[in-house]
Amino acid sequence: MKKMNILTAILFAFVAAIICGALFGSAIEVVKPLGDLFLRLIQFIIVPLVLASLVVGVASTGDPKKLGRIGGKTIVYYLGTTLIAITIGLTIAIILSPGGGVDIPQQVEAPEPRETEGFIQTLLNIIPTNPLAALAEGAILQIIFFAICLGLGITLVGERANPVYHFFDGLAEIMYRLTGIVMVLAPIGVFGLVAPVVGQHGLSVLLPLLKVIVAVGLACLLHVLITYSILVKTLGKMSPLKFLKGIAPAGIVAFSTTSSAGTLPVTIKNARENLGVSHSTSSFVLPLGATINMDGTAIYQGVAVIFIAQFFGLELTFTQLLTIVLTATFASIGTAGVPGAGLIMLTMVLTSVNMPLEGIVLIAGIDRILDMFRTSVNVVGDASAAVVVDASEQRYAGQYADGQDQGMTG
Ligand code: ASP
Repeated sequence: MKKMNILTAILFAFVAAIICGALFGSAIEVVKPLGDLFLRLIQFIIVPLVLASLVVGVASTGDPKKLGRIGGKTIVYYLGTTLIAITIGLTIAIILSPGGGVDIPQQVEAPEPRETEGFIQTLLNIIPTNPLAALAEGAILQIIFFAICLGLGITLVGERANPVYHFFDGLAEIMYRLTGIVMVLAPIGVFGLVAPVVGQHGLSVLLPLLKVIVAVGLACLLHVLITYSILVKTLGKMSPLKFLKGIAPAGIVAFSTTSSAGTLPVTIKNARENLGVSHSTSSFVLPLGATINMDGTAIYQGVAVIFIAQFFGLELTFTQLLTIVLTATFASIGTAGVPGAGLIMLTMVLTSVNMPLEGIVLIAGIDRILDMFRTSVNVVGDASAAVVVDASEQRYAGQYADGQDQGMTG
């Protein structure tokens, strides 16, 4: 009952934000600090929550083989759904043809293409040379690495490491409880975040690019309703309706904050409490997903590339489309879970098929709106992975894994 009330309140705030934004225009900016307040509160939970709950998750698993198994399944799921996402994005854009006959006011400079560090260096960077610096900078992949090592270390040392285990167990519980308290403010936060965006983007900005917004929105909807529903139903043995309802608060918070990393505490909370995902699975799969799994971003990149090609009257060959699928997959993995990151990574996709980077300028004006849709999908996608991987782990380990997980962390 209480959970439903929070969801209803968030939905209500969301609708109220749209109405007030439309009514008051940019004057509604005054409520922005409310949004920032909520955003900062959930952001401040992330690092300690991810560190502590992952340490406890790994230590209570006590088995490197299990970790490897969960890791393998998670990566395969993330890659598979991202490939499907980009394909849906390209297909919908080709069908809807959003780039035909548009006249766009160009107000923004094209961003510089992002320098990539190379594959080997990117992998090496996962190992922090100074774990405390990684914590201070909030480098999630490095924190995940540190937490896994700590968890494994606790298992190896055994009894003498018990105080460390209990410390992290307590810390995880505290951060988790704080997430619950902060969520009480979610409706106010959602209002404070969404109303200024609606107020700022008057219809005159939105209308010329309405087809792009519709294409991204439709592709996102299809990916959620078809891909995730099928996967959650068949592999996760969960009713899609229960899944969507359970993850809805995180989806709306993602929509409002446009940051999947920022939404992480809410995603973890929803996955555990509403979707019944175990602590050990959720504390591994979800932080990883918030960093590397960006299905919504992949969809957006697919639509954006087709839109830009159509705008400049470029014909894309099949090989080029294939290149786009591959680059967009890697670009989405490299996209940070922060507002606007996907737009910067789009330069990588455009460069891969020699398309003009100026194209980015065309959609930069509405990027915030597109970011809302793609971030929601990014977060819902992570949660679907948690459900599917958890179900498969439970099938694998049966009652034993269940009991152990509850006993150590619950
Ligand atoms: N804002 C998105 C996220 O946090 C990333 C993007 O810009 O595509 O998931």
